[in-house]
Order: sequence, then structure tokens, then C-alpha cells
Amino acid sequence: FGTKVASMLPEEAFTVIRKSFDARKVLKEPQFIYTVDVDVKKLLDTEPRAWDFIARLEPKLGAVEYMAEEKLADDLISMLNINNKGSDDVLGIRDTQNGSTCPQQQKPRVAVIGSGPSGLFASFVLAELGAEVTLLERGQPVEQRGRDIGALAVRRILQLESNFCFGEGGAGTWSDGKLVTRIGRNTDGVQAVRIFLPYLNLFLVMKTFVHFGAPPNILVDGKPHLGTDKLVPLLRNFRHHLRELGVTIRFNARVDDLIVQDGQVKGVLVSDSELRPGSVSQKLSFDAVVLAIGHSARDTYCMLWRHNVDISPKSFAVGLRIEHPQELINNIQYSELAAEVQKGRGRIPVADYKIVKSVGETDSENELDIPEQSRSCYSFCMCPGGQVVLTSTNPSELCINGMSFSRRASKWANSALVVTVSSHDFKPFQSHGPLAGVEFQREFERRAAMMGGGNFVVPAQCVTDFISNRLSVTTLPPSSYRLGVRPSKLHELFPPYITEALQQSIIMIDREMPGFVSSKALLHGVETRTSSPLQILRHGETYESTSLRGLYPIGEGAGYAGGILSAAVDGMYCGFALAKQLSLFHGDV
Ligand code: FAD
Repeated sequence: FGTKVASMLPEEAFTVIRKSFDARKVLKEPQFIYTVDVDVKKLLDTEPRAWDFIARLEPKLGAVEYMAEEKLADDLISMLNINNKGSDDVLGIRDTQNGSTCPQQQKPRVAVIGSGPSGLFASFVLAELGAEVTLLERGQPVEQRGRDIGALAVRRILQLESNFCFGEGGAGTWSDGKLVTRIGRNTDGVQAVRIFLPYLNLFLVMKTFVHFGAPPNILVDGKPHLGTDKLVPLLRNFRHHLRELGVTIRFNARVDDLIVQDGQVKGVLVSDSELRPGSVSQKLSFDAVVLAIGHSARDTYCMLWRHNVDISPKSFAVGLRIEHPQELINNIQYSELAAEVQKGRGRIPVADYKIVKSVGETDSENELDIPEQSRSCYSFCMCPGGQVVLTSTNPSELCINGMSFSRRASKWANSALVVTVSSHDFKPFQSHGPLAGVEFQREFERRAAMMGGGNFVVPAQCVTDFISNRLSVTTLPPSSYRLGVRPSKLHELFPPYITEALQQSIIMIDREMPGFVSSKALLHGVETRTSSPLQILRHGETYESTSLRGLYPIGEGAGYAGGILSAAVDGMYCGFALAKQLSLFHGDV
């Protein structure tokens, strides 16, 4: 609208609700894009001439539609009774006086297994609504977990229960902390509520993060991320708040079994996960058990299978992690502007990328042929300014992922390049029933450990050699991975259908991002835990297992989420749904 109009408008009438940086090459020049809320009343009170501004704005915004969405949000907020009632009542649902929640003499006892985002948010909602919650976590609180991860990085000591996957905050604590999700985007447009509700819950999750110490800009940034240094104190605050709400939190407490009577879970068997001599398992009784175990608790999956819990194999993706110098990615993505990023003034974010390619399109008409011939290959968990880390939970199995700190200031950019695999591919592991996908993961984790030669050394190969099927004979480019890399034939690690899909897609990516295939780019093996290889079946409305009453499988490990935010939202939904069944809450979710 020009600087003249802009200068007459009062700043306080505007709130930035989203800010993103767009450096696509189709644009004449890179741009920051702002989405702003305008308080029309404030605007007109201060500057009556702003009518002119509004008249010009309205046709562009489609104001009527916007108001309809806002009304929907109001309706939902009152339905869920989620109003902002002061800083302590973060979700605003603890007020039991208004009839929406039910105070009870005898509180129902709920166990939540796992303190990742899904378990934390389920505990949070249930405790706010009046349940007696016990949160059982096999790993350590973040303070000790940090020391254990330090010992892994420096002295190669892998604590089986306290590592990058297990411990307070779950798998995403030592991560890049990207807070992005695809929830709701593809939902059926006819049902407005179903579109909007996930966004409302996302908003609540983000607000909760801010309440516990995340920087408020995550509410605004187009691609918000926290980084490990911000996640750790946030989790500490979350823990204190849960304890204030009366949640019993037990670390070092691994659930080894479920106590089942007449098709209903009655409690759990917990053991000290450090297995101190003389320690014994403890039986604990509960009215309901929320299972928020993540996708690395393979022993717990086995236990569920023993109980004949309904589980079905699920598609996921496997591949390798590629690392480039961050400077190279900045140059590819930003061209001349890359120099600004190198100066490190922080205005322009370090460059990232997100790629999806489809390779080997089938010309067969037989649907069953498709999984073998057409594969989707995509970048996953891209960490600009980050480092490659070890996410193994067992010394004989090797897998990796990426993490970063909030400033994303390292000189590396890493990302997984993964290919989708489905139950069709798990056939060699059929004897493992619904856990065939887990065995499939294990097979390649074991091969990677052997290729690396042990001691958590990661097998690696120059990307140029990988696409030419040859061992890297020259010195490998440097890697951010701290436990060492070993030149290996990564092109022989996976079966040809995966290797070839990766090779073809890397060549396609290089056409789109010239320079991506570079002698400075190093592939690391192996990335297997992109999401859960199975789904623990549950009823849509109640979140209860389809086969075992009283069991509520949630989050990534149960196959209902992929990432911090979607896991947190799933936990939140489950909290409401279970509270409803326990007569603690009478709203509709
Ligand atoms: P988890 O976070 O896996 O939590 C499960 C918890 O259950 C664990 O703490 C575990 O110790 C505990 N547990 C398991 N079994 C038992 C048992 N039997 N008894 C007691 N406790 C048990 N996602 C993003 O959105 N953005 C990112 O940037 C990102 N980066 C990542 C980087 C790394 C290195 C890793 C490993 C993951 C990353 N992810 C990221 C994925 C994200 O962490 C997960 O999607 C998310 O944490 C899943 O949440 P969850 O609650 O379902 O399970």
C-alpha cells in the first residue's frame, strides 16, 4: 500500500501471525512474507482515515470467510472450554465449577507410558481434567540424559535406556526441534470442523510450548524450530508443571508387561530399567493405560504381540543421511544472497531444502506390482546447521538421525534421503507377524553396524561414488558425526530396489539443485526409524485399542503421528477422549 499509507497506520493495530522467507528461484528477488492480523477497531479509533485502507484490503482477504473461521474457533473453544484463564492454567480446562468438567471423589487412575510429546500432552490434559496420572518413563530426566548422551559422544558408552530415543521428552529432545506438521492439510474440505480442529490443537500445543519457555516467535515463524538447547529447559518446566498438577512422574521405570483380566488392562508390571541387582518388578493397578512408547521400544512391541493386541504392519521409509557443507546448500538455494547468510547476522535463515521424487513409475495395470516398481523418495528431517547423531538403542544395531541447536550455526547441513517401503517388502520377515517391519529395520541396522566395523563407527560413502557403485578410495570429506566414519560400499547395504531408487532420485535432485551431487557431499548409513513400522489399531472416537479394553495406543510408536507436533496433538486428543470415557469431561472432541 506504499509507505505513505503504511506510516499513518498505528503499529498496535497489527499483529504478525506468520513470517516466512521465500527464496524460490521463480521470484525476481527473495522476500520475507508476513501474514498479519488487523484489529479494525483499534485501527479506526486511532486513524479514521484508515477506512480507505480497509476498503482496499477487504477484497484481497475475503473477509467474510475469515470471520466464519473465527466464529468456528470461538465455538470450538467454548465447546472444549479452552479459554485463556491465566498463566498457570495453561490449557484453561482446570476450572471444574462451570459444569464442563466433573470433579470426583475417587479420581480415576491412569498410567501414561512414555514421556515423549504424546505422553506428556496426554498426561497434561488428563491431569488438568482431574485424573490421577502416573507417568512412567524408562529413561532418565533431561539432566541425567544429557550426561548420558555426552558420554556416548565422547566415550562411546551407549546407555540402553537413556539415549537419543529414550528418556524425558522422548525421541525429539536431542533433535532439530522442527515444529512442522502436515496435520489436517489433506482433510476433506466438506467438513469444516475436521479441518479446523487440528489447527486449533496445533495452536494449543504451540502455545503450551511457549508457556514452558519456547521463544514466542515459534507462533509466527513459517518454519518454526526450537533446537536442543531450547527443548531441554522447556521439558524441565513441563515436568515441574505436571508435578504441580499432581502427576506422579517415575523415571527409570520401564513397563515390561500389562496385567490383563477378561480382555481388559488392569495395570502394568514396571521394573527399574537400570536393572540394579536385587531390583524387582512392581505391579501397579490402573483404570486405563495410555501407551505412548515411540517407535524404538521394540521389546514393548513384542510384549503387545504376546498379548495378541491388534497390530498391523505399516509403510515407512528407509535410506541414508546425506551431509553437505552448509555453505554449499546456502549457495545452491540463495545464490548471491548466500553471502549475507555467511555473515551470520541471522536475518536470513540458513538454507534448507525439502524434496520429493517419484522413481520407477510402473506401466503395469496390476495394482500389486506397484510397490515393487514405483517408489517415492524424499528428504526427511532436514537439519540445516546441524549434526549427524547416533540413534541406536542397541550396540549391535546402528542407525542415525540429525539434530541441531537453536542457532543452527554448525557448518553442516544434513538430511535423510529415504525410500518408502511397505508390507510387500517385509515378506522375508513374515515369521515375525505384524512385527515384520521391525525386523526389516533391524536387518539393515545390523548390516550398517557391521559395515562400520563396530564401536558406533558409521559406514559412509561420497555421493559421487554411491551413484557410480564404487567404494570411495580418496579421503572422505569431513563429517559432523563425532564417533567416526568408515569408507564403505553403501550401494551394497540395501536391496537393489532401494539403492537404485536412491541413486535415481539423487540424480534428479541434482538437476533441480545443481551442486547437490558434489565431492563434498557424504552419505551416512543408515536411516531406518523414519516412522513406526506398524500401527496398533484403535477405535477412531475413543482411542481405545480394538482388541484390549483399557489400552490407549497413541503417538508415533502406535502409528498415529510423525513428528513432535503431530505426536503432541495425538496425545492431547487422546487425553480428551479418555477423560470423556472416565466421565471427567463432557465436551465433544
Ligand atoms: P517418543 O518421543 O519416541 O517417546 C516415547 C517415550 O516412551 C520415550 O521417552 C521412551 O523412553 C518411552 N518408553 C518406550 N517404551 C517404554 C516402556 N516400555 N516403559 C516406559 N517408557 C517407555 N520430529 C520433529 O517433529 N522435528 C524434528 O526436528 C525431529 N528431529 C528428530 C531428531 C532425532 C534425533 C530423533 C530421534 C527424532 C526426531 N524427530 C523430530 C521425531 C520426533 O522426535 C518423534 O516423532 C516424536 O518424539 C514422537 O513422539 P512420541 O511421544 O510418539 O514418542
